[in-house]
Amino acid sequence: MPDYMFLLESRLSPEQRAAMLRVQELASVLGFNVYLTGGTVRDLITGANLRDLDFTVEGNPSKMARELEKGGAKVLSEDEKLRQVELLFAGDVEGSISAARDEHYVRPGTRPEIRWSTIMEDLRRRDFSLNAIAISLNPASRGLLLDPTNGLSDIEHGEVRALSIHSFTNQPVRLLRALRLAARMGFKLESRTQEWFNLAIERELQLTITPEDAGEEVRSLSREERPQLILKEWEEGDLLELVHPILAKKHPGYDAINRLIKVRDDLYMAGFRPRLATPMLLAIFSRLKDRELSNTLSKLGYRSAEIEAIEKFPEKALDIQKELAGKKTKTPIDAYRYIEKIPMEYVAYLLAESSNSAALSKLKAFLHKWRPVRQALPIVATELEALGMPRGPKFDQIVQDVFAIQLNGRAKTPEERVKILRKLSGIKEPPKKKEKEKKPAKAEKHVETPAEKKAAAAEKHATHERHKAGMKAAAAKHKGKK
Ligand code: ATP
Ligand code: MG
Repeated sequence: MPDYMFLLESRLSPEQRAAMLRVQELASVLGFNVYLTGGTVRDLITGANLRDLDFTVEGNPSKMARELEKGGAKVLSEDEKLRQVELLFAGDVEGSISAARDEHYVRPGTRPEIRWSTIMEDLRRRDFSLNAIAISLNPASRGLLLDPTNGLSDIEHGEVRALSIHSFTNQPVRLLRALRLAARMGFKLESRTQEWFNLAIERELQLTITPEDAGEEVRSLSREERPQLILKEWEEGDLLELVHPILAKKHPGYDAINRLIKVRDDLYMAGFRPRLATPMLLAIFSRLKDRELSNTLSKLGYRSAEIEAIEKFPEKALDIQKELAGKKTKTPIDAYRYIEKIPMEYVAYLLAESSNSAALSKLKAFLHKWRPVRQALPIVATELEALGMPRGPKFDQIVQDVFAIQLNGRAKTPEERVKILRKLSGIKEPPKKKEKEKKPAKAEKHVETPAEKKAAAAEKHATHERHKAGMKAAAAKHKGKK
């Protein structure tokens, strides 16, 4: 068995790891068993991005949510009936905690009865085998993989396999989910699942998907890496109608989606990983008029505050564009300070949609020129320290001044920077010593190489010999005189 704990820890960001440890700790205090489940485990195994952490506990997560809130986590939504909490942990880590539950369908397609259960029952009631895997986070079995429906093998074969013949009848939204998962992962539907899928479509079960369920799928779609692949599948399967007839008629904004994806890749390269759900949603629905968009979202169960925020997004982006084209951001340093504070999803939206060249050139300069200079600023601080300037407010101000100068394209070389740093700090260059004085000092400092040492020793010996010979000769001469 591979070491899933090691895999997990090496794949989680530090913030995600902290969130996991906190959940583990709280579960242990409350005496609940806790597991990582669903999409998190699937993405971990397939090597996909771990966007969120889905936990399942054998107990009620509401107390955990209260404790987590005390530590700064935000509860995004809480379903008390389902005992399910969506959270934003510290450090912007998305996640959820759900109570393990079993679902019992009296008849296929009716509302299920819910019973609180063990993790194994919870895994078996899930939609597809690749989503029905868990990793234990409990002290005695940390890292153990629970895979009661053989999901690992389906992942290896690249197949989405439904867990029961009643899967689509019980929850027709799984028709959308099956295609979404398959498209996202480049998998196919397993052959029996495909048969069940076709049968469900023949019986027009897709028409019974509730708008709210379709809305949840649209939410997930807007967080996908490549939503265009999923939309194409839904469109080919005539399922787009279910999201909204207008979307099927006018088609998704594939061009806008592609523009945003290109920008997102660019942002990744520059070291940013923004959440782009709102601009992506706007791109998906970009062919709809404003009115049509708000009607569609409202039908899909979006709350009115959410709809308002989505509608206002382009207006806010326009305000930002105006600022970027205006006087207040004329100098690079002013533009930098302004852009630094804009949420990245607006930067992404403008880069994808704006045609204002002044705004665009500043945003591009920010990402590709100014940010790298900013990241190299610690070097300037080291250089200033080396000149003998003590750290403090004046020190920081000088570093910031050099940054502003650098954004204007100067102070690129270390020599140039040292000159500027001396000027700004008032630290003069030490006076140069005269050439004549220097030479003997240099000679004094000269360190002999081994070869030189040998030569010197030989010379000493020769001198000694010559001296001895000279003495002998002198002695002989002296003798002769006598
Ligand atoms: P994503 O990466 O989109 O978040 P996910 O698989 O985590 O993918 P969620 O919608 O967050 O999707 O659902 C979490 C888990 O809950 C799923 O992995 C699946 O096990 C289960 N689940 C979600 N919807 C259903 C459903 N309709 N029927 C059964 N199980 C479901
Ligand atoms: Mg999830």
